[in-house]
Amino acid sequence: MRLDFDLALAEGYRSGAQRARRLTEGWFAAAMYCVACGAETLGQHANNARANDFFCRVCGASFELKSGRKPFGATVPDGAYGTMIERLERQGGGPHLALLHYCGDRLAVRDLLIVPGSFLTRDVILRRPPLGPHARRAGW
Ligand SMILES: [Zn+2]
Repeated sequence: MRLDFDLALAEGYRSGAQRARRLTEGWFAAAMYCVACGAETLGQHANNARANDFFCRVCGASFELKSGRKPFGATVPDGAYGTMIERLERQGGGPHLALLHYCGDRLAVRDLLIVPGSFLTRDVILRRPPLGPHARRAGW
């Protein structure tokens, strides 16, 4: 399996965060298969707001990709609490959570951990303290 990122995907992007997102999502889309049923490829939602979400065209399993240069710790920051809870209840369970740790110098995958969606329940979703009024994403 190729672990290096396809650098062409980040051409034209200047922001480090955007480049990292393009590279990690591109790698996941090209390399990842469905861990639920073994299908060889996953689909990616076109909607920009859900671009880190992938799905299996065969069994319908959904995947949420989280990427970082540092190893993931005991908790993983994610989007709005209410949105995740609504998603858990609507889908009857969470997406499979894909935690991709990459090397920022080599621009390659270091490791990938999949947390099965059945492990994502209301009890393990933590509510974050609200951001201050001057935060970039105030109100989240
Ligand atoms: Zn599948």
